[in-house]
Amino acid sequence: MVGMSWDAMPLASGLAWTWLALVLLHGLIEAVLALRQMRHVRQHRGAVPAAFRSHIALAAHQKAADYTVATVRLGLWELLWSAALLLFWTLGGGLDALNAALRQAMGTGLAQQIALVLVFAGISMLLALPWGWYKTFRIEQGFGFNRMRLGLWLMDTGRSLLLGLLLGAPLAAAVLWLIHSAGSAWPLAAWLLWMGFNALVMWLFPTVIAPLFNRFQPLQDPVLQQRVETLMQRSGFAAKGLFVMDGSRRSAHANAYFTGWGTAKRVVFFDTLLQKLNADEVEAVLAHELGHFKHRHIAKRMLSMGLLSLLGLAMLGWLMQQPWFFAGMGIHVQGDNAQVLAHPQALGLLLFALMAGVLGGLMQPLGAFWSRKHEFEADAYAMRQTEGRHLASALLKLYQDNAATLTPDPWYARFHYSHPPATERLARMQPQATGATT
Ligand SMILES: [Zn+2]
Repeated sequence: MVGMSWDAMPLASGLAWTWLALVLLHGLIEAVLALRQMRHVRQHRGAVPAAFRSHIALAAHQKAADYTVATVRLGLWELLWSAALLLFWTLGGGLDALNAALRQAMGTGLAQQIALVLVFAGISMLLALPWGWYKTFRIEQGFGFNRMRLGLWLMDTGRSLLLGLLLGAPLAAAVLWLIHSAGSAWPLAAWLLWMGFNALVMWLFPTVIAPLFNRFQPLQDPVLQQRVETLMQRSGFAAKGLFVMDGSRRSAHANAYFTGWGTAKRVVFFDTLLQKLNADEVEAVLAHELGHFKHRHIAKRMLSMGLLSLLGLAMLGWLMQQPWFFAGMGIHVQGDNAQVLAHPQALGLLLFALMAGVLGGLMQPLGAFWSRKHEFEADAYAMRQTEGRHLASALLKLYQDNAATLTPDPWYARFHYSHPPATERLARMQPQATGATT
């Protein structure tokens, strides 16, 4: 690959325009949805929806509305900023300039390739920091959710960066090395490595990674412990079981999740959630999490992620050999710069990651739809194991504690919500709330 022939130029400019159109289209869709969400939530701020009037106070409803609007507004600004950044890195020549600077400093070779990936990732993380700070210390703080001081936040950030470096740097180095050395089979080799890496991280997460940030303890209450164990056995969940996390160190938000696989799998409750729920509700929420396990939702997600990444890597394997791919995405490949194409690994990987981000954003409604389907399945499972009214009352507490709006814009919810809106979830629990089904 040296230079670019003239007949490849139309392809390059075609890609450049397509890329610009995709970035703008994604930005436009997100902006319209965000504006819709803010308008819809504001319009319904005045009154609690009829179905919730006996459970949710007007003040809580209005707090949820204000919190939602503030969060979505910040998201809108962040979106505009990241679209501008994306265009700066690609068509604006930012990545090209960074690559040239590193090449001048280090020459060509694997070390320079790794450095390009790491420096790019480092700059991206630094640029994201002010947004994280603002979210925690302005929005979360303003609504009384934040419990972190700046020191802990800085320590969290440092630990995350270090962890990212420890896990990400060897992975990036290995992938770059494979692209360089494994010939045309590199996408398959890199895919196997990537899947192995994901499985390892998911296995390490509950026992090694998450404890770097939080403390996890087995449930203390012996009576509740007994009920939890009975339910877990009935569901065939043979693992260490239920852990309580000190989420209150950082935030007043409450949550529960299911994580890990094999012997490392577990259900985690935030202490903030446990404080709010009675024993029946804890059991119902646990049953919901076990529903995710029973329906193999993590495995299904891993499988679809695996297929998508295999497809993506195969495509990258082909694109990496096309000079117009680099030229179209803002890399100079003519004249003196033709040597870029002799060492395209890191550039190709980064450009593709940026592209995948935008394509992934456009495909988000599909992922969100699938995730909501899983939530309904987990709810249905929980209702077969426990009583629907306990899950319903637990959910209401969860929504209220997290100041989640009860009146989202339908289109915004369709696009973004990984969990169905409260009205839809609770509607499915209603028949059982009064009935005597088991
Ligand atoms: Zn769930």
